[in-house]
Amino acid sequence: MIRQRPPRDCPAWCAGGHLCTAQYGYPGGEHRSHPITVRTGYGVLVCTRVQNRAGRGRLEIRLQVDLSRNEVRAGAQAVLVAEEVDAAVRRALGQSTSATA
Ligand SMILES: [Zn+2]
Repeated sequence: MIRQRPPRDCPAWCAGGHLCTAQYGYPGGEHRSHPITVRTGYGVLVCTRVQNRAGRGRLEIRLQVDLSRNEVRAGAQAVLVAEEVDAAVRRALGQSTSATA
């Protein structure tokens, strides 16, 4: 069996340079776009498109949400935000099953 090596050429959206580790052939290397930062009324979203050397594409989203100074309320907000983000992603992808932690 002949193993075909994944291509090292970057997709058009890859930022290349130090952001791309796929171009060097590392086993865990990834193509990565320039991150897009969106500041909102509740915090910050940082979105980055990622693709591993096998061609699996992902969207990486880092989310910062301002929480209440009240610890009990902050904990409840954190759980609710995580649940709502999960639900929004499932709707966007057309999935209906709930998460398993
Ligand atoms: Zn790349």
